[in-house]
Amino acid sequence: MKKIGVLTSGGDAPGMNAAVRAVVRKAIYHNIEIYGVYNGYQGLMEGNIKRMELGSVGDIIQRGGTILYSARSEEFKTEEGQQKAIEQLNKIGIEGLIVIGGDGSFMGAKKLTEKGYPCIGVPGTIDNDIPGTDFTIGFDTALNTIIDAIDKIRDTATSHERTYVIEVMGRHAGDLALWAGLADGAESILIPEKAEDFEQVVEKLKRGQERGKKHSIIILAEGVGNGTEVGQRIKEATQMETRVTILGHIQRGGSPTGSDRVLASRLGAKAVDLLLAGKAGRMVGIQNNKLVDHDIIEILSKPHQIDMDMYKLSNELSI
Ligand code: ATP
Repeated sequence: MKKIGVLTSGGDAPGMNAAVRAVVRKAIYHNIEIYGVYNGYQGLMEGNIKRMELGSVGDIIQRGGTILYSARSEEFKTEEGQQKAIEQLNKIGIEGLIVIGGDGSFMGAKKLTEKGYPCIGVPGTIDNDIPGTDFTIGFDTALNTIIDAIDKIRDTATSHERTYVIEVMGRHAGDLALWAGLADGAESILIPEKAEDFEQVVEKLKRGQERGKKHSIIILAEGVGNGTEVGQRIKEATQMETRVTILGHIQRGGSPTGSDRVLASRLGAKAVDLLLAGKAGRMVGIQNNKLVDHDIIEILSKPHQIDMDMYKLSNELSI
């Protein structure tokens, strides 16, 4: 291969820039021309593609978001959209594409690969919901953002003897809620993977109140339901003063943590290695601190697994 491309797609995640930097630098290290595709698959279909140099990715390793921008595109899900994208790539002579994004973006990469256009996926999403990798790029930063926010809420919760319900991101995966709950000593964690046991949440709150607990924190993944409604139900069931905080998009931003920068650098570079080795339709990941790669089709057919031992532990530690 002489020319490859890179794009970021779906929800942005801190560390995507570090991954783009790794792809660009690793390609140039191997004397390969590297092209940045702007605005994800939408920009790809429109031919929004620019040659990148060593300096194009200078001073971005510490920055959140993505310098290539991200977009969601319905048109790209169609046959015509995918054909348009391949035509744009062929026009420049780009022979392989690295896609940094979540499972939706990987579906797109799979479609292009099936049409004979080689793609490699790099898992970049704060949700940590992609099978075949222990961590996705952005998860650690988002986790630390949540922890920082909850620490602050905890201060005011103690002063006013309140119960706080905190809604975090995670439509289908409870990883952020689970890890943040364990890291912050939450009383209860509500995640989509575990059917809600509302009675248990209420009972625990009442037990805590009886032994003079000053405050309680309940963490809820957005996929479980609306934080405001859950807060209202808790208030009605316990008669405790209850406040709700929905952390929202603050979780997506910020400078990536050291772990995310290192992960992004390793995965981005590995993706280039795979393309150069003639591989296609693969995703890169990290398992037991070793770089791995899997067939995208196989991975997308597997369910996301959450660590139920951690869930159990969190319950044991918050009795
Ligand atoms: P996150 O989970 O962080 O939001 P994601 O990559 O899953 O990231 P999506 O919005 O699901 O985000 O997907 C991003 C883009 O990938 C879509 O806008 C679409 O262009 C493309 N895509 C998604 N699903 C498919 C599909 N089945 N076929 C082709 N392209 C797809």
